[in-house]
Amino acid sequence: MNKLGGTEGEVQHEIVIVGAGICGLATALALHRKGMQCIVLERSESLRYTGGAIGIMANGWRALHQLGVDSILRQTANPIVGTKDIWLDKNKQREMSFMSGEARCLRRSDLINTLYNALPPNVVKFGHQIVSVKLDPQTNFPILQLEDGNSISSKVLVGCDGANSVVADFLQLKHTKVAVLCSARGLTNYPSGHPFTHEFVRMKRNNTFVGRIPIDSKLVYWFVAHPWVQTDTKISQDKELIRQYTLQLVKSFPKETVELIKDTDHESLSFTRIRYRRPWDLLLGSFRKGTVTVAGDAMHVMGPFIGQGGSAGLEDAIVLARNLAKKMSMTPTDPRSIEEALDEYVKERRMRIVRMSAQTYLTGKLITESTPLLVKFACIILMILLFRDASGHTKYDCGTL
Ligand SMILES: Cc1cc2nc3c(=O)[nH]c(=O)nc-3n(C[C@H](O)[C@H](O)[C@H](O)COP(=O)(O)OP(=O)(O)OC[C@H]3O[C@@H](n4cnc5c(N)ncnc54)[C@H](O)[C@@H]3O)c2cc1C
Repeated sequence: MNKLGGTEGEVQHEIVIVGAGICGLATALALHRKGMQCIVLERSESLRYTGGAIGIMANGWRALHQLGVDSILRQTANPIVGTKDIWLDKNKQREMSFMSGEARCLRRSDLINTLYNALPPNVVKFGHQIVSVKLDPQTNFPILQLEDGNSISSKVLVGCDGANSVVADFLQLKHTKVAVLCSARGLTNYPSGHPFTHEFVRMKRNNTFVGRIPIDSKLVYWFVAHPWVQTDTKISQDKELIRQYTLQLVKSFPKETVELIKDTDHESLSFTRIRYRRPWDLLLGSFRKGTVTVAGDAMHVMGPFIGQGGSAGLEDAIVLARNLAKKMSMTPTDPRSIEEALDEYVKERRMRIVRMSAQTYLTGKLITESTPLLVKFACIILMILLFRDASGHTKYDCGTL
């Protein structure tokens, strides 16, 4: 018997999900809530919490409600009551209350552990890296090749394996792009309570952006975004280097920002180059081949500028499980009905993710100093035409499971 519950060689499963990030775990939970069996293959030996924290807005909370974990997560983070933008160069600021419903910033560990703990034991199989996918010429069902030499076949394969997805490569999706900006992130604990209001504060000086969001009365999440330079290559491997580099970037910011970064919990520090799929690639991409599809960042990785990548993955999970359950409960073994379910999923998701990624893309262009003026002008026109309600993306409801 091997670790995946079968004899050595090839093992057959109903539904296989690749990746135990936010989207893979949410998809497994959504399927479980619909009474469908699946396994999740994760290459790491344990759950990963990279990034420290994540902002979840009203649309994400609707999806978490469908998964039955919203009330647990509400206890872990206080509501964000508004936003404040501060342009330090111009000595200007703008405040807004959150008109578009619930927003909270969750520790990634709370979100991921809560999704994981709601699953039955042994659904997630750690230490299994997928290296390639092919279709069985007889059944047309997918066969996954693992790094350890074993292979697995399944009726359905969902790639939730993030921005460098092996499953997306199998679907021949266009490669992801790297943005001009990179981002350092971390969590800072104030044992006697922090002095900040429960707002999302964004500060800008020259071409450096700092964001700060309290999670609860003691813990604060921050990020610093800055144009990537060649010398940044090695930073992500070394936490002390991330801290020193970030402190250098914010040295002319207000004193409490410098303190915030200086006192960061070392373990929570991370440094990422921002990746994205272009909106027109999402419009034209083919997200299904046979009974294989993708969800989460594997499908639609986007910049963090409207804070929706993770919530979009939660929505994917609900829509995918709903469509699979509808068809597979009637004709569980017919590959054509599974393909129809996946086509319905892709159809339902496509324009939603195109819109979110377009708004993210335009926002990213507008905040990047190196964007030519003419391009910025075109972006402003498109924003006015397409996204007059800037927080419209939070009003979306992915529906019931
Ligand atoms: C700076 C920054 C800030 C952000 N802020 C927000 C925010 O405020 N709000 C928000 O909603 N979103 C935000 N996002 C986006 C959000 O973090 C992502 O959309 C989300 O984490 C993606 O989840 P995922 O499960 O799709 O992919 P990932 O989190 O990338 O998970 C993929 C999983 O698959 C595993 N894996 C990969 N390849 C294989 C393989 N071959 N075999 C087996 N396992 C594999 C990985 O180990 C990993 O566990 C932000 C992103 C960045 C970069």
